[in-house]
Amino acid sequence: MDLGIAGKWALVCGASKGLGFGCAQALVREGVNVLIVARGAEVLEAAASKLIADSARPTTAGVQFVAADITTAEGRAAVFAVRKDFDIVVTNAGGPPPGDFRDWDRDAWIKAVDANMLTPIELIKATVDGMAARGFGRIVNITSSSVKAPIDVLGLSNGARSGLTGFVAGVARTVKLASANVTINNLLPGVFDTDRIRGMAQGTATKTGQSVDAIIEARKKHVPAQRLGTPEEFGAACAFLCSQQAGYITGQNILTDGGAYPGTY
Ligand code: NAP
Repeated sequence: MDLGIAGKWALVCGASKGLGFGCAQALVREGVNVLIVARGAEVLEAAASKLIADSARPTTAGVQFVAADITTAEGRAAVFAVRKDFDIVVTNAGGPPPGDFRDWDRDAWIKAVDANMLTPIELIKATVDGMAARGFGRIVNITSSSVKAPIDVLGLSNGARSGLTGFVAGVARTVKLASANVTINNLLPGVFDTDRIRGMAQGTATKTGQSVDAIIEARKKHVPAQRLGTPEEFGAACAFLCSQQAGYITGQNILTDGGAYPGTY
């Protein structure tokens, strides 16, 4: 299927690896120009080189990168200094650490809310009116299946992302945006094979003495698909939400979790 977005410009945040990289790769393969962002310049530059070297990239699709912390006003200003208008924005930053809510002070909460609620809201605020004026816009927020099925040790994520989810539910349904072909959706990953998941498994391994592989195998058993998702699969779902064909999908929370969410709705 031709997604009809070749030549568009996408800002993809948290894209030097993992799910953000999967989204950038899928968009580039559709002929979309991408500006990718992450803090670590070296890994980011390597990611940009990988996108450029991808044999599935139409040669018309450009790749730019800006090393910045997207959760800060300065970081966002650095991005928008390079390019002001985007047709597609994928919001993403690292997830908050796991832990016990008794240990989280105000600073821990502010950091989580900043990264996983206020940053996507700022990025939406900075881009949607331009999208509406041009008659096309796609925002995809990478959130988490924990929004629908909270994970006890990820309270910072459950809380901050639920705030974003409530905001998006309202703003996506405003006539000014929806009638101008601007959609805003959340894509909710279950368990995907990325450094974050391996890092969390490493944390559990250190505490329990189990091997990382044994922990990952145990996680797979909780997923009906019996495996972890891949960043490529996640990217493909993201690219579809960014397509012309997805213009009638807005304000939704779409799970990509191999069937792990146990509910009917
Ligand atoms: P990952 O493999 O750790 O990759 C995170 C990416 O975001 C990296 O490129 C990282 O690069 C960048 N990043 C982190 N903080 C940033 C910041 N402040 N500004 C700019 N870039 C930043 O993580 P992932 O597994 O892809 O997860 C992506 C998101 O999905 C996270 O919010 C995570 O909590 C959520 N999620 C993931 C899963 C899963 O199974 N993987 C499940 C549920 C939810 P730098 O560190 O160099 O900045």
